[in-house]
Amino acid sequence: MAYMDKTSNFPETILTVLKDVLPKDRKFIPLHEPKFNGKEIEYVTACIDSTFVSSVGKYVDKFEKMLEEYTGVKKAVAVMNGTSALHIALKLANVRQGDEVIMPALTFVATANAVSYLQAVPHFADIDEKRLGIDPVKLKEYLEDIGDIREEECYNKKTGKRIKAVLPVHVFGHPAELDFLNAICEKFKLTLIEDAAESLGSFYKGRHTGNWGKLSALSFNGNKIITTGAGGAILTNDETLGIQAKHITTTAKNPHKWNFSHNQIGYNYRMPNINATLGCAQLERLEYFVEKKRTLAKRYMTAFNEIDGVRFVAEPEDSRSNYWLNTILLDKKHANLRDLILKTTNTAGIMTRPAWKLMPSLPMYEHCPGMDLTVAEKMEKRIINIPSSADL
Ligand SMILES: *Cc1c(COP(=O)(O)O)cnc(C)c1O
Repeated sequence: MAYMDKTSNFPETILTVLKDVLPKDRKFIPLHEPKFNGKEIEYVTACIDSTFVSSVGKYVDKFEKMLEEYTGVKKAVAVMNGTSALHIALKLANVRQGDEVIMPALTFVATANAVSYLQAVPHFADIDEKRLGIDPVKLKEYLEDIGDIREEECYNKKTGKRIKAVLPVHVFGHPAELDFLNAICEKFKLTLIEDAAESLGSFYKGRHTGNWGKLSALSFNGNKIITTGAGGAILTNDETLGIQAKHITTTAKNPHKWNFSHNQIGYNYRMPNINATLGCAQLERLEYFVEKKRTLAKRYMTAFNEIDGVRFVAEPEDSRSNYWLNTILLDKKHANLRDLILKTTNTAGIMTRPAWKLMPSLPMYEHCPGMDLTVAEKMEKRIINIPSSADL
């Protein structure tokens, strides 16, 4: 191949590789596009015919059952989006006003927002170069330094606040190092809650992501691996928490045939039945989507391995990743070309995106506590997400 041609410039080389891997007959290739080629129309039609399009109906129950079966958790509760799933997962884990919650500095803003809804404080951790999730080695050393354990709870020596939970994110679908993070949580008396919004279909050591934490959150937004238009789910293996999750996300209504009575402040966070129809049809197709996306990832990997200056982010050896968003990482020498690569590819109709800005660089989170973020700062400048739809 001509990738090594010394005369061609680096952004053009990246574009050539992408063009080689991607279909040639399309004018525009988005980053991630949903595909509805299963039973979506059949289920939507049946749902409309039944008139039960709103807050109750059999598709919600069916979708929750299917999620339980697929992920292996005891209880899945469908809600209106991933952010509300995170909000309630954190609340049920007893995250309270003033508590600190450890999360990676590199994530989508919803992770930090959900913590803020409870008047709790995001506490930012550095990430690991390979998996892009929280670096557990660094976190352990950090907690040995700043953590103070009193009466089975962990306090931040610097701020005096309780550190309640660790909230790893499985960034772009690649599982964080859950075993190690779990051990850290046990040692430091912290609760593990997973932001598995991007990782439906990803397994760590044979067990589904979202099935490791006390509670976890999934998202079915339009750009995720399956979609319900908008949607999310709370996962837990604790039956009591599962029942509470259902209750509190459905306005905390006492079940009764006609009486309206509510026993606590509830949330109207439930997923409408009409959205759940899409969930059922999409979940039936999930393994097919994952296989297609893994094949695409392999093609990218082979192609990008042939050029210097860039690395394709591969799944960790202990995991099966859903490869939700394929990612390339520029090396140090080429990091300054990132914006030019973004411009070259987007101009050519191939949609690419930089990483999210690090959470502590956003105005509302700049004063939050955090550890040294050298790796996250370095990675943020070098990440480029490339087209990842299942049908490419
Ligand atoms: C998408 C996403 C969310 C939020 O999900 P919504 O359904 O959009 O509310 C949370 N965290 C991460 C890491 C995400 O990618």
